Amino acid sequence: MRCPICGSIENRVVDSRSADRDEAIRRRRLCEGCGERFTTFERVEEQQLSVVKRDGRIEPFDRLRVEAGIRAACKGRPVSEEDLDSLVHDIEEGVRMLGGEVETARIGALALEGLRPLDGVAAVRFASVYKGFENPGDFEAEIRLLEEADIQRPEPGE
Ligand SMILES: [Zn+2]
Repeated sequence: MRCPICGSIENRVVDSRSADRDEAIRRRRLCEGCGERFTTFERVEEQQLSVVKRDGRIEPFDRLRVEAGIRAACKGRPVSEEDLDSLVHDIEEGVRMLGGEVETARIGALALEGLRPLDGVAAVRFASVYKGFENPGDFEAEIRLLEEADIQRPEPGE
């Protein structure tokens, strides 16, 4: 760590303590070159999430954009803000679990999986956008998937 005053890289740590509610370590360093003290912080590196677009471009994962898509599908449907929020959070966690870089289609699939048990209509609406439905048969297929998911769902109390 280079001294901000004289540029020397020779220094020693004279004090270390927890900072930012244990999310960082603050160190006081004494420069061997000029004798001044300076402070450094050590933090966990945040994983950058990214999306691989259909044309191969890579963009940062945009939580707000994902949320907007789901929100549009849920418009006028009985999906609470809380459910919507936790769905978006689950998608973000899903992306993280998949290594932090996933294809657009994968995010759509995660969103659809999460929407199906929340609201069937919203799920079909979402699928029609993300899968690019072109004919009524596509809707019927999606509804069949929805019914299958419904049958597999365990009864409460089981
Ligand atoms: Zn110095």
